Amino acid sequence: MQWTCPIRTGAETRPDAPALTFAGQGWTYRELDLEVGRWVGALRARGVTAGDRVALLATNHAVGVFLFLALGRLGAVLVPLNARLTRAELQPLTEDISPRLTLALTNLAERLPDAEPLESFADALGAPDSHCVPLETKTPRVILFTSGTTGRPKGAVLTEGNFRASARCSEANLGPHPAPRWLGTLPLFHVGGLAMLTRTAYDGGCLVLRERFEADDTNRAIDEEGITHASFVATTLERVLDARKDRPVPSTFRLALIGGGPVPAPLLERARAAGILSLQTYGLTEACSQVTTERPDEADGRTAGRPLPGLELRIVGPGGEAVGPGREGDIEVRGPTVMAGYWNRPEATSEALRDGWLRTKDLGVLDERGRLTVLSRRTDLIVRGGENIYPAELEAVLAAHPAVQEAAVVGVPDGRWGEVPVAFVATRNGVPLPEDLGTWCRESLAGFKVPARFLSIEALPRNAMGKVERTVLRQRAQAA
Ligand code: ATP
Repeated sequence: MQWTCPIRTGAETRPDAPALTFAGQGWTYRELDLEVGRWVGALRARGVTAGDRVALLATNHAVGVFLFLALGRLGAVLVPLNARLTRAELQPLTEDISPRLTLALTNLAERLPDAEPLESFADALGAPDSHCVPLETKTPRVILFTSGTTGRPKGAVLTEGNFRASARCSEANLGPHPAPRWLGTLPLFHVGGLAMLTRTAYDGGCLVLRERFEADDTNRAIDEEGITHASFVATTLERVLDARKDRPVPSTFRLALIGGGPVPAPLLERARAAGILSLQTYGLTEACSQVTTERPDEADGRTAGRPLPGLELRIVGPGGEAVGPGREGDIEVRGPTVMAGYWNRPEATSEALRDGWLRTKDLGVLDERGRLTVLSRRTDLIVRGGENIYPAELEAVLAAHPAVQEAAVVGVPDGRWGEVPVAFVATRNGVPLPEDLGTWCRESLAGFKVPARFLSIEALPRNAMGKVERTVLRQRAQAA
């Protein structure tokens, strides 16, 4: 398969359709095409050519969209860096990818010594350049560093074919929409944000890009900007619902995808009752975002749904054999959205990819209808005296306690049991830790799963994607 000139087709077939909005400005497909052409010219003038890497350190901004699309016309690779990382964390990443050019928003530039301010680069653009190279299925488009919750960040190489397939498979599951308007509050340095960009730009939709997530702003966008689709993680969905109160949701809004970590079923029920059809989704960087997603017509929030059409998923038991419904094991995925490999890490690549199957390092189980329940990351699994404990199950029970705002459970070493669960609990309005938490857990959980200790915490530490930083909690639990 071959493609040329990302969004040129959109500019020819629907020139006046909206393509992008950001910070009060809007671009139609024709305008976006011209802007991207100007970026192509400036990048070529700087010697950027096919296969080169260009690093970007930025929070969400329209220039990130221009750059991604322009690099696609050159066959070059975008390396979006996490805007929350420190100078010390960024240095090994840029050394690893040796970029031809490094751009950063001025307020972040001091963290990357070789970076050019993005604003001055954008100010100096010249005339549009219509240059375009053909993109093959295997042409690398992005190197995306995983957030490193399970070790040193690895750069997943995602190809043009991955992004095209991800958009196609996602649409096959969710159903087509004549003029989708996705609310872009996920960071563009994360696969969720990038997949949203390609899903809209490659299919003629509009990306309503925001610098960051904010609950009131999200509700305003749903009410006043004709948003049709959005993606949230559990905590952001909860904040949207809290801020929304009982305001009805306009009929323009179609659905929200909820994933990135455990998604409590009661939260999805609450969202649906409020008029926000919310579908649980499971995905990861290495598979270019969604792997499974609930189908709109059968969503009940109890599972993460079936594999997207075109993807295969299997659960693998301890002996390496695929196991049937009801049996727990490692989740593996195969299909056109699976990454080419990790940048400069042949060993990690052959460890992760075997015969086209991606070993996700997540544990799960399929039901009789082929729907997936994600149990835990393999590294978050707690084994107490030989019994498996999945933190998400305990966290859901704790979160249902009326006094609990949020909770996270981690395993800590224990002389008698090998490992025991310890719960960190943040209470609503900072009330003291309720004394009945142990009893509360015992009512719905087997005794061995009940946390050995409950520790009070003001708020759970989270990374840029809103994921709980379990390594930090494990250290705190051991020190407590
Ligand atoms: P790293 O790979 O460096 O540890 P990360 O975990 O943040 O970083 P991402 O690719 O951003 O990597 O996130 C994917 C992970 O998020 C999945 O592997 C899984 O553990 C978790 N996840 C995604 N969706 C769900 C879901 N519906 N339920 C439970 N966990 C989920």
